[in-house]
Amino acid sequence: MVHNFNAGPSILPKEVFQQASEAVLNYQNSGLSILEIGHRTSTFQAVMDEARALVKELMQLDADHEVLFLHGGASTQFMQVPMNLLDDKETAAYADTGVWGIKAIKEAKLFGKVEVVCTGKESNYTIIPKDFAVPNDAKYFHITTNNTIYGSQWQKIPKTSIPLVGDMSSDIFSRVIDFNAFDLIYAGAQKNMGPAGVNLLVVNKNILGKVKRAIPTIMDYRNHIKEGSMLNTPPVFAVFVCMLTLRWLKALGGIAAVEKLNDAKAVLLYQEIDSNPLFTGTVAKEDRSKMNVCFVMKDTSLEEAFLNFTKEKGIAGIKGHRLVGGFRASLYNALPISSVEVLVQAMKEFAVTNG
Ligand SMILES: *Cc1c(COP(=O)(O)O)cnc(C)c1O
Repeated sequence: MVHNFNAGPSILPKEVFQQASEAVLNYQNSGLSILEIGHRTSTFQAVMDEARALVKELMQLDADHEVLFLHGGASTQFMQVPMNLLDDKETAAYADTGVWGIKAIKEAKLFGKVEVVCTGKESNYTIIPKDFAVPNDAKYFHITTNNTIYGSQWQKIPKTSIPLVGDMSSDIFSRVIDFNAFDLIYAGAQKNMGPAGVNLLVVNKNILGKVKRAIPTIMDYRNHIKEGSMLNTPPVFAVFVCMLTLRWLKALGGIAAVEKLNDAKAVLLYQEIDSNPLFTGTVAKEDRSKMNVCFVMKDTSLEEAFLNFTKEKGIAGIKGHRLVGGFRASLYNALPISSVEVLVQAMKEFAVTNG
């Protein structure tokens, strides 16, 4: 048994893999694979419709918010968002909470002006900035709701009078928040939703159509909305697997139910980090992520030995990002609490023999 703590691509429910693999061989006893039917058939149309409807339902989106499945990763949205929302003499506000936010800022500068209204840089991104002001005349304010690399997370979503944009790649569908408070949400699928290659995009249609530039057809959100997220051939398999994961999440009881499970996993692991003499957390307690738990050893010379020790127990994917070092355990929706229990037990055992 492997306990999969990978940061992304990452764990998905076992039954989703089972259903997906059956659909690749013979979809609904049609004698055809889900991969060899036209995207405009009623068969695939039903998949796209259900996937979009499940997002609306699970996030409780209002009628102004449209749901799209778009090609590419979250990195595509770093440029597609400003292309659709920001004219070249206008300013967008961004929060700098680490690598992904910095990449988003870099792309936005290609389309307009950027004001970085807060940064966690001085603390090596171990905190989420608290005291800052967002200019009222900025076109939108962009945050990264969960910082996958550092293990920090916005526990309170900032209130703004201007449109709020969120990169939710690594905490989408993991906790109850007011999704309608965001005018645009994007997330690469491969952390909590499905395979790589597709983005979920949620957008309040009222913020679109305001920029003067000509937008290439495939980049203009309005065209995708008009065509029901079927402007061209969508990444059919990735969308299909997202639909299966969303069905799984709904059957589990939705976002509120999975949040309870996620909270229990995070509490268990952070409690061990805080009480075990060998380990220490890297992020300010109030800003800790419930999705990506980052920690180091007080004696870093023991880290390799601990990594090898956990490997023997079937624990996979806990090596930290090179920018932070140490360990990162990603506790995405599909990870069972039993895997966290195995990791916690390994930490306890290691402390006994190396304390
Ligand atoms: C993984 C990640 C990205 C990059 O996603 P790609 O799909 O590889 O482009 C962007 N933002 C966050 C928060 C991420 O975790």
